[in-house]
Amino acid sequence: MAINFYDYVSKYDFVPFAELLNSDDFKVLSKSKTSLISTALKDSYKELSDTKIEFTPESLKKEKVILKFKLQKAHQYASDPDGYLRYKLSTIKGHAFVTNHNKPEVEHDLGIKKYGDIVEIVFSKNLMDTVQFIDFYFKDNSEDWLDLKGSMPDKWEHCGRVSIGAGSACYCNRDFTEEEIKKIVKELRDNTFYNEKSISYYHSDKLFHRNSQTKEEYKTEELPINDRSYKKLTEVLNAVFKKHHIDKCINKVTFLAQMYIETAYFTATIELTHQKKEYEPYRGRGFIQLTHKGNQDKRTLNAVSYLGYKLYSNIDVITTPSKISTSLEISGDSAGWFWEKGVRKFDGSVINLNTKCGKEESEFREVTRLIKGAATEFGERKEAFYALLKIFNYEDCINKK
Ligand SMILES: [Zn+2]
Repeated sequence: MAINFYDYVSKYDFVPFAELLNSDDFKVLSKSKTSLISTALKDSYKELSDTKIEFTPESLKKEKVILKFKLQKAHQYASDPDGYLRYKLSTIKGHAFVTNHNKPEVEHDLGIKKYGDIVEIVFSKNLMDTVQFIDFYFKDNSEDWLDLKGSMPDKWEHCGRVSIGAGSACYCNRDFTEEEIKKIVKELRDNTFYNEKSISYYHSDKLFHRNSQTKEEYKTEELPINDRSYKKLTEVLNAVFKKHHIDKCINKVTFLAQMYIETAYFTATIELTHQKKEYEPYRGRGFIQLTHKGNQDKRTLNAVSYLGYKLYSNIDVITTPSKISTSLEISGDSAGWFWEKGVRKFDGSVINLNTKCGKEESEFREVTRLIKGAATEFGERKEAFYALLKIFNYEDCINKK
């Protein structure tokens, strides 16, 4: 199936457009249209569409990938036999990527193309990493066509854009791929330490394999084997981030840094200590360890901890706390709820942790304090936070502060 990456909504019938032909080398992240409002009458019926694609992790390893566009008529009864087409490649920062041009933008005039012609744009590895936009321009060559101002069309019309997500784009407002989660977990474990050895040294690439290492009466609260996979972790994180509005890089970095320590480096969904706690059986469970039975504020009806999550989700974690620890989905969702709705001020009102995230140490410390009640044992969280900022290339985030 082909993707129309733009429409030119016209009463006239000779406007060319192009279809991006599907392939296994990329996936489509979004398709949207923008109506161009212009004082010029001829622009009032024009819609520019912006399609966002992302090269797959497999294609990023290839030496080159070809994007194919098929030139079409905008109207099935068009009599005009052909049209001019031009495209321009540009990068986010405008840094050079074509060695012999040394320019931030490169234009290719394709001359006259017949309808049905396939236009191929070859993406070398270098281009896949750096190009942010492909913009298309058309100029019709019909001799009897006058535009609505009564003159011959002589300028190139911008009519569509394809944005490239992967390589150059950050993690804001998009899903992680399984490959990316694997890479994030590996690099985070490689760059955080216990007794001077990396966390990778202790746990290699294993996930959530340690639930049975907790206190005797909770040993059976293990996760099903399917939940201990990168595929499942990717699905759960994407769902939690979407549902609980953890959508910008800095929110994701902050959440993952906290989760990393709370889950003992992504190895457990239950508190691993063997000591008896005064809050048993409501010991820490989930990605950001809900702890304590919790209570409800009489004035605001907001509730914390296990009770708060039960009221929100209708999952009876008060009667059966193990519902959290034995499901990766509920481990994630309970943490997402806590992140957005579970931290309460003294007056009972709620603090959404999404509003507290930032790249400064003081901001990360404050989030830690709101989660733990005190910013104690801050060192290992801070180490994870700074490692993640690097892994995310936070400097390139489109929403960085
Ligand atoms: Zn970002």
